[in-house]
Amino acid sequence: MTRERIVSPLEQKNDVSKPPTSTPSVRPQDLEHYLGQTELKERLGIALKAAKVRKGPMEHTLLYGPPGLGKTTLAHVIANELGSKAWVTSGPALTKGSDLVGTLTRMEPNDVLFIDEIHRLPAAVEEYIYPAMEDYKIDFTLDSGMHARVVSYALQPFTLIGATTRAGLLTGALRSRFGLVHNIRYYDCDELTDILEQAIALLSFKNIDRDALTRIASRSRGTPRIALRLLRRVQDFALVKTQGECTIEVVNNALALEGIDDAGLDQLDRMYLQTIWSVYEGGPVGVEAIAATMGEDAGTLEDVVEPYLLQIGLLARTRQGRKLTPEGQKIAQEA
Ligand code: ADP
Repeated sequence: MTRERIVSPLEQKNDVSKPPTSTPSVRPQDLEHYLGQTELKERLGIALKAAKVRKGPMEHTLLYGPPGLGKTTLAHVIANELGSKAWVTSGPALTKGSDLVGTLTRMEPNDVLFIDEIHRLPAAVEEYIYPAMEDYKIDFTLDSGMHARVVSYALQPFTLIGATTRAGLLTGALRSRFGLVHNIRYYDCDELTDILEQAIALLSFKNIDRDALTRIASRSRGTPRIALRLLRRVQDFALVKTQGECTIEVVNNALALEGIDDAGLDQLDRMYLQTIWSVYEGGPVGVEAIAATMGEDAGTLEDVVEPYLLQIGLLARTRQGRKLTPEGQKIAQEA
């Protein structure tokens, strides 16, 4: 029997057998090129070495933190380091336990199963996953009524990597089954500059120096995905306006065109601060009310907008709701 494998869109993007596209992938493939997150890398380095010595799978790992900080990338890096394959799916894509059977039964020893947005896994799938995580088996119920019987199917040992932006929404039962639980934190400006420096070689973007990269990094909300997106916008801007030459002034102009201000806040951030200020007199106010006023999804505000505003001290969370800090009020007034 030939083993067929589902290739995730991410892997397709990184497939070296295909001709290069106009926007090559800058996703690091190994731990050495996965920059920053020193503490996490140290813990993972040990877990990976231990797995290799044991010749078994790595511990099940839960990664949590805001979007764009490198959770998916890390799952691929771990699979590469283990010399195994990464199988990618997400919580909302799995509606019933049997949705996972195809993947779980095709996996080879020590492969990695990556489940993004694992907090959105339905209860039925979660129940199904417990024996798979603990004993590498899945249980099927055959027949129904008095003839019903449970049949176990043995799986190859594997590593489950779960990623979530909302660790608090995970059930205690699921969370406790992960051997490693780690918070992916925002990157500092130096780390982001290093990530950009690593990316420019792959993007053939030569006419930009470290100072200009630092300027992009400082406006990227501590997030590699945003830094890399802005880098591409700056590259396009320089290509069209300055024959590729990229000074700090060019970076400033390109970022202004993208609506990014000096603090790295974008239009959605500023609209959020302004709504609390002008409609709710600076708060406290519940996130649902803010979302309804802005016509935005409350989940997007909680996952994407609020963590960074909290981190840089523009917003405070109180029992009564969200409240602008004096610094946040100042920015809201100027916005
Ligand atoms: P998440 O899954 O947390 O939303 P991703 O793994 O998709 O984030 O990362 C977004 C982008 O940022 C990827 O294209 C990846 O190239 C880059 N990236 C993230 N973390 C790092 C890192 N530590 N070093 C280098 N590049 C990174």
